[in-house]
Amino acid sequence: MPLPPQPRLPPGYLSPEGAPRPHSLGLTPSADESLQSYIFRLANRRRTETPKALGERLGFKGLASRASLNSVERLALEASVPFESLLPLWRGDPHSPFVLFWNHELPGSALDFGLQEGRKVCPECLAERGRHLAVWDLSFISSCPVHRKALVDKCHACENPIKWKGNGLAWCGCRKGGDLTKAPAAPVTPEQANATACVQGLLGDPQFTEEGTGVLALPPFRNMAHAQVIEFLVRLGLDAAATRPRRYFFGFENMGDVEVPPHEALARSLAAVRNWPAGFHAELDNMRRLHLTDVTTATQKVTKGIVRWATPLPNGGGKEVVRAVAEWRRAARELAAGTP
Ligand SMILES: [Zn+2]
Ligand SMILES: [Zn+2]
Repeated sequence: MPLPPQPRLPPGYLSPEGAPRPHSLGLTPSADESLQSYIFRLANRRRTETPKALGERLGFKGLASRASLNSVERLALEASVPFESLLPLWRGDPHSPFVLFWNHELPGSALDFGLQEGRKVCPECLAERGRHLAVWDLSFISSCPVHRKALVDKCHACENPIKWKGNGLAWCGCRKGGDLTKAPAAPVTPEQANATACVQGLLGDPQFTEEGTGVLALPPFRNMAHAQVIEFLVRLGLDAAATRPRRYFFGFENMGDVEVPPHEALARSLAAVRNWPAGFHAELDNMRRLHLTDVTTATQKVTKGIVRWATPLPNGGGKEVVRAVAEWRRAARELAAGTP
């Protein structure tokens, strides 16, 4: 009887004695870090090859891209850690239109590095924890709720966007030094920090469970999945913070037509949702004012994307949103009828 196929081990994984390399033992992945972060830490622990070389050898297509499950399996073997311990760091199949983030499915554009290979960091967290947090890779996370500072995406020494290069997690990799733990970060308001904490809590960040639970209890979100609550806050926030109608109304992507940072957009939508439905209606009023057309057409433009997104949500999760939109539309009809 033929033997079952043996799992293919990466070259160099087994020493001549057949035992895992002893110096790769003992580096536990942290559930809150990114895969790149773990690869950097592992390469630094072993000091036999650069993070880039290690990643490439294991089949990661460029350090900053989404990885195949196969590469993650090889990384687990290489590091002698249980495969399951690396799963929270995995962002899902690279060909899927969705991003997997700690068991939540988010739109593909939720990952910043899908668009560019840059990264952003909280200098203080980087100094305290010595790892790159996975939430920093998300397009809608732009501040640190622990230190109440905006994330930094440019090196203060060379002034270039921070990328995954060099050998140190806390260094830009440029010739000017570029100690990222010393990069100056601008403060954010308590509301902006709290909005980011709420979203991280919804994702399952144990530091902000209370904030996340508080948001889930708000009227429009009672039957909505966590990922959809986040989507709603991001989509509404980007529209609410925009100073002119966006190209894709109620879109998840920023598309470069809003200059407002995500932590401000999230603060806007959370404030609106906390005063439900009056706050939501007030934001819809604001958006309608940006449209230089008649009330009926503008009302249609403002609400079409919201209804299209909320109606098919599973378990009737979008019902309350659709109801509040219908109420606002009724008021708009009366408004249009009232003006000669
Ligand atoms: Zn921080
Ligand atoms: Zn630099």
